[in-house]
Order: sequence, then C-alpha cells, then structure tokens
Amino acid sequence: MEVSELSSSSELRIKVLKGMSLGVGGLAALVAMGNVVVSQSYIYASFLVLYAFYSWYVYRQTAKNTVFSGHKYIMSASLTALVVVGTFLKPTDYGVFIWTLFFPIIYYLLLGYKAGLAATLALFIIQIANVAFQFYVEQYFDMLTMMLNFAFCYFSIAIVAHAYEINRVLAENKLSKLATCDPLTGANNRLALKHRYQVLQNQQAAFHLLVLDIDHFKAVNDEYGHDGGDVVLQSVVNTMVEVAGSDNVFRQGGEEFCLLLEGVSHHDALAMAERIRKRIAKTPIVYQQRAIPVTVSIGVTQSEASKCAQEINRQADANLYAAKAGGRNKVVA
Ligand code: GH3
Ligand code: MG
Ligand code: MG
Repeated sequence: MEVSELSSSSELRIKVLKGMSLGVGGLAALVAMGNVVVSQSYIYASFLVLYAFYSWYVYRQTAKNTVFSGHKYIMSASLTALVVVGTFLKPTDYGVFIWTLFFPIIYYLLLGYKAGLAATLALFIIQIANVAFQFYVEQYFDMLTMMLNFAFCYFSIAIVAHAYEINRVLAENKLSKLATCDPLTGANNRLALKHRYQVLQNQQAAFHLLVLDIDHFKAVNDEYGHDGGDVVLQSVVNTMVEVAGSDNVFRQGGEEFCLLLEGVSHHDALAMAERIRKRIAKTPIVYQQRAIPVTVSIGVTQSEASKCAQEINRQADANLYAAKAGGRNKVVA
C-alpha cells in the first residue's frame, strides 16, 4: 500500500471533478447550442458556454494531476448558478428545475457530508422559492402536489447521498486505521510513519525524532519465550504512549520504535526521552508471575529544514548506536 492511498477521499473528489467536468461540461456545450439555435436564449447560452470552458479547463487540470482543491467549490457553485438562473429565466414547463434533483449527489460527492448537507438545504430553499415565484408569474396556482413530489424526491435522494457519504467516510477511516496500525502493539506502523513524514515535510514543520530500541531483547525471547517477548513489546509501547501520546508512537519493526515530536523544544524532547527510559528501567514487566527487567536505549535528533527524512533517521540511528555502545539504558542526542 502507498502513502497516497491513505487520503482516498481527495482522490475520489478529483475523480468526480474529472468525470463531471467532462460529462456535465460537454452537456452544457450541447445545451448552449440548443439555446442559440432553437430558443435564441443568448444570455443563458453564454452562461452555459462559460461553464463549458471552465469545465474544460478543470478537466485539463485533473488530467495533469495538478488540480487546485478549491475547484470543487467553484464547480459546485457555478453549476448551482446555472440551474438556479435556468429555472428563473425559462418557463417552468421546460422543466429546468428538475435538474435540482441531481445536486445533492454532486454536493455530497464533491464536498463531503458537512458542506454537502449545508449546500443541499440551501439549494432546496432557493429552488422552492424560485419555482414558486415562477408559478406565481405564470398564474399557475395548482402547484401543491407537484411541489410536494419535488420536495419528497429531493430529500429521498439527499438521504441516500448522505448515508452513502457517511458510510464511505467511516469505511475509509476504518481501513486507514487497519492499514496504519501495528496489530501486536497498537502503535502506528511504518506506513503511518511515512505518511507523517510527508505531512511534516509539506508543512516544513520542525520536529524531534527519538529512535528507541529494547536492549538485549533477543535474550528476553530466549528466556521467556516469544509470547513473553510480545508482552514486553506491548508494555514498552504502553509506556511510550503514556508519556508521548498515541499519535506520536511508531513501530519501525521488531523491537525498534520511534517517536515524532512536533513543536517541542530540544530540552523537552530530551526530558521526554529520559522519562521513558527511566520509567521502563524502573518497572519490570510482569509475565506469568515473573518480573522481566527491561531497559531501552534511545537516540534523539532534531529536524532541520535542509535535511531529508532519511538523513534525520540516519542521525538518530547513529545516536542510538552510540547509546548502545556506551553501555545501553541511555539517551544520546
Ligand atoms: P541490542 O541490545 O543490541 O538491541 O540487542 P537485541 O537482542 O535487542 O537485538 P537483536 O537485533 O539481536 O534482536 C532483536 C530480536 O527481536 C530478534 C527477534 O527475534 C526479536 N523480535 C523481532 N520482532 C519480534 C516480535 O514481534 N516479537 C518478539 N517476541 N520478538 C521479536
Ligand atoms: Mg534491541
Ligand atoms: Mg534492534
């Protein structure tokens, strides 16, 4: 699995944007021609042509994978404007307002469930007022049944779109949790670490990296069995989580872990490393009524803007190695 797959929502939005800009943009161009040739509605046709050009631009961007995330809002707003203006300008029996029913799906797919819900409710109010005004202008007062059917249909579609989007987000969160969590210790795994590095790099945020390795862990396995070793791994992670918070603890593999600390001073990072080391050293881990003494060695390093993640990691590893060489149960920065 790749790091980019952890943000599948944004990938979905881009796909929807791509499909919409091609499909609905093409349709807008056709309808614009119809408006010029058949009904000579030049004003509405120019709106449609503008929209078609904008769609083409967005399509090109999505095809080049350089799409600006604000386009999902611009696209929703411009399409909404088209249907609202169309409903207003055209006689009601043209049925332009029927397109309103398509919008809850667009909103939820493009904007997510919170903004999707807000946009769905707002459009409903606007279009009900818009259609009622048209009926009033056209002196057609027997509109109640049609309006009720329209409202029920609109909200039925909105409820389905809402349920779909909520379930999709829950499934995405669950999958991403499964993909980024180490099943034995509950710590974040290497994929999560890669993702976090990317986020930190994009934000150009400063951080401290602590690499922690259990001392003589092989001997623990030999003495207490693999299950005893597993209990030690879990207990070490619990201590790290208590001190540094679960979001910051990662299992790099085997009995090696790391902590990513954002927005802490060098002094605080060192103090945290010391606290973890001392707490582990002074509390033997109880397994099958036996106390397993455990110590850890920790290498600490500070990120600098000029350094890549590998370089920072290499330096923390070098410090960890120095802690091991210096007799273990040590913090080296
Ligand atoms: P040092 O103090 O130099 O770090 O020595 P060490 O014995 O801790 O290091 P070494 O790399 O020799 O041994 C690591 C051991 O960790 C070997 C491997 O079997 C064990 N190990 C790796 N993953 C797991 C796991 O998930 N569970 C258990 N129980 N043991 C594991
Ligand atoms: Mg070790
Ligand atoms: Mg090791």
